[in-house]
Amino acid sequence: MHVFVNAAMSADGKLSTRRREQVRISGPDDFARVDRLRADADAVLVGVGTVLADDPHLTVDDPSLRAARTDRGDPANPARVVVDSSGRTPVDARILDTEATTYVVVSSAAADARRTALAGAGGEVVVAGDDRVALADALRELEARGVETLMVEGGGEIIHSLFAAGLVDELSVYVGSVIVGGRDAPTLADGEGFRRVDDGVLLEYTVTGRRDGGE
Ligand code: NAP
Repeated sequence: MHVFVNAAMSADGKLSTRRREQVRISGPDDFARVDRLRADADAVLVGVGTVLADDPHLTVDDPSLRAARTDRGDPANPARVVVDSSGRTPVDARILDTEATTYVVVSSAAADARRTALAGAGGEVVVAGDDRVALADALRELEARGVETLMVEGGGEIIHSLFAAGLVDELSVYVGSVIVGGRDAPTLADGEGFRRVDDGVLLEYTVTGRRDGGE
């Protein structure tokens, strides 16, 4: 499985505010670029922290990109994945609507009542790990369900864990021309190499030495 992380951060390296409120970091050209990345992925993954903070939809906006997917025999939208050890995703979260398949990856400690509620709300519950979601196991479970290209959209905790587990192949970071500040605001790593998009820069990295040897 090919795993790529895409995120947008402020000029001072923050993904959002210290209250984990979403901030507009990029602009229309970058939104279009992210839409194309989504359209190229089999699934788009976020942590439950992002679902609780932003209630994202994670579908492809551009109808021509959705049409291109269906023309090649794929569903109009990539699958959506929430990494959610105890099943905290609200049953009315936008990510659970009928626009795409949604895998809610829980740990075996997740209560049966939560699993039933999430399945009833349209989620496909996948179990990986004991107390917390084990990310390598989660990726294997997703691969078994046909996910070969996985886009990770955040947030900071899940990105950090994926890097710590050696599971990332590529990282793109948009750096916007805004300062957010706050010692406790979520951040992402710095790096080298950039490309201008809108009035910010885009950092792109190929990660070497993936630990599970994944393709
Ligand atoms: P997050 O990374 O979205 O989710 C973290 C949660 O995932 C954890 O609290 C944990 O909750 C669950 N999880 C389960 N297994 C895990 C594992 N192995 N490793 C890590 N987490 C695991 O949350 P976040 O760091 O708070 O980020 C949310 C913030 O990021 C929001 O403010 C959002 O606006 C921002 N964001 C920004 C961008 C951007 O590009 N700028 C993109 C996305 C999000 P459980 O213990 O309950 O499972």
